[in-house]
Amino acid sequence: MNETANTSQTWPQNCALACVIGLVYFLAACLSLNLTQSAGGIATIWPASGVFVSALLLARPGQSVPLVCAVGLASFTSNSVFDASPEMALAFTFANIVEGLLISQLVIRTSGVPRMLDDTRWLATFFVATVVGSTISGAIAAGLAGEPALPFFISWFTTVCLGTLIVTPLIVTIVNGLYVRPLNAPRRTVVSIFLLAFCLATIGSLVFSNEDGRFLFLPVIGLIAATYFFGTRGAAVSISLISIIATSQTDFSEPVAGVFGLHADTLFLQFYLLSLLFAAWPLSLLMAEKAKLIDQYAETNTFLKMAESAAQVGHWCLGKDNSTLLWSEEVYRIHGVEPTDLPMDDTMALEETSSLKLYHPDDRARVRATLLSAMERQEEFAYEARIVRPDGSIRYVSSIGHPRYDTSGGFEGVFGTFQDITEQTETLEALRIARSNALSEAAAAQWLAETDDLTGIANRRKAFTRLRAAASSAKRNKEPLTIAILDIDHFKTVNDRFGHHIGDEVLKRVAKIVSDQLRPTDLVGRVGGEEFLVILPGEDGRNGYNIIERLRLRIADERWAKAGLAKVTVSAGLATLSDSGDIEDALQRADEALYKAKRDGRNLLQSAA
Ligand code: GH3
Ligand code: MG
Ligand code: MG
Repeated sequence: MNETANTSQTWPQNCALACVIGLVYFLAACLSLNLTQSAGGIATIWPASGVFVSALLLARPGQSVPLVCAVGLASFTSNSVFDASPEMALAFTFANIVEGLLISQLVIRTSGVPRMLDDTRWLATFFVATVVGSTISGAIAAGLAGEPALPFFISWFTTVCLGTLIVTPLIVTIVNGLYVRPLNAPRRTVVSIFLLAFCLATIGSLVFSNEDGRFLFLPVIGLIAATYFFGTRGAAVSISLISIIATSQTDFSEPVAGVFGLHADTLFLQFYLLSLLFAAWPLSLLMAEKAKLIDQYAETNTFLKMAESAAQVGHWCLGKDNSTLLWSEEVYRIHGVEPTDLPMDDTMALEETSSLKLYHPDDRARVRATLLSAMERQEEFAYEARIVRPDGSIRYVSSIGHPRYDTSGGFEGVFGTFQDITEQTETLEALRIARSNALSEAAAAQWLAETDDLTGIANRRKAFTRLRAAASSAKRNKEPLTIAILDIDHFKTVNDRFGHHIGDEVLKRVAKIVSDQLRPTDLVGRVGGEEFLVILPGEDGRNGYNIIERLRLRIADERWAKAGLAKVTVSAGLATLSDSGDIEDALQRADEALYKAKRDGRNLLQSAA
């Protein structure tokens, strides 16, 4: 609905635009007929066809129909003004309309919109479409006008071809220039274009007004220069300029014999202009391709910079023999320096006094050795180190890289990424400390949970846990296990006579004597007030007896003078784990043996039955 409203709204404007184009077509036709008409009533160049084709290529929906009507009227009138009979004028008009529609439709349907002069495919399609359209319109005109076939056809074909090939790019360039880059072209470029156009016009006028054709190469130089500096725009403007000057300076009235009875000067001019087209367009496409590649490169570079900045990862390249060092912007940023503060010259690479001075003094030698080794062995590398920023702050960085080779496989140096890992490093360090603290706290808690805090030996819980483990291991491995319960004799009396403090000292000393005498695989735990459980894995009853008896004697021999005690003795009950591995049974038998020892007079060791 919008589109309909839009079309009906712009209908008068479309008609007005069609009238303007019709008028331009009429003027172009009259100008070329007036200036260049030779035998057969055909002009040398037919710029009007270029006007029509470009208008059709640029037309929006709804503009084509009024355009065709206006151009048809303009063509008929201009041909009539220049002495064509109404039938001839009608035939030429029909041919003109057909060629315009044919060329524009072929281009649009094959290569799309016409704002693509820089595009090789578009330009190639345009060339082919122009040749096809000119051939068909030539055939129609020759057929309808009843002219002698070949000379008329060639003449028509070349004039339409040239007119379209020269004028269409010019108009498309101007319109594109108006819409795409209106007035924001740098002043210098605009001035340069005008200066070049002026030079070209002056040289062209001098060269073409001169009878001597030896200087015809001069405009070619101007055209090549314009194309080189201004691309397709330069080519389109220059060719049009040269065409106008050359055409206006050629005298078409004098009959000069050429091939097929065609005017020789006309043929030469047409050939000259075609040569210009074929010289300029490939170069202009090449320049456009180059500009596109530069744009692409710039864009890729921008994306790379954005990616580096977002990821906070830079890159650097070190040339072989440490000759050159390149840093990306992000590497400078990570270092906290500006590229201007730190010029990268030949002395930069791997010298302590230059790039490596930014590393922490303690890390420089390591980084240098890593890089030198990677260069020498041409292998991958990775390092982490600290850098010191100009403000004194320290950052942790990580670099990973690999060797670089040129296209023929020659070693060029190394490439590396560069990442600020300060946050990660600090987080990891904090985690490491927290983990180590947690581990030591857990260890302390476990020690507390398993240790008798008076004597420092295993407590009851630990002693029984170990006993269960030792019993199951003994049963599994079919090895003997002997246990003993030690009880200090008349300990109550010690407390009563000397006080709890001395009692505690006795407990500690006895615990120490026992644990000092045992092997690391044995265990002594305090399982009651003045009761100790001794576990002897791997020992049978006889060996166990000897060990415990030695302990008993050792305690009895201990000197207690300092504590004011005469003697401290222990009684012990010993039991060997039965084949069933029953702990309770062994403990009970050991307990019974202990009581037997007490009954038998104390300071004794008794073995369970
Ligand atoms: P027996 O020769 O028959 O073993 O006589 P005993 O006096 O050693 O036996 P009893 O079981 O009657 O006394 C044990 C004493 O151990 C009672 C208690 O006061 C003392 N005791 C228990 N735990 C501690 C302790 O941690 N410190 C001190 N100083 N004494 C303790
Ligand atoms: Mg007791
Ligand atoms: Mg006791």
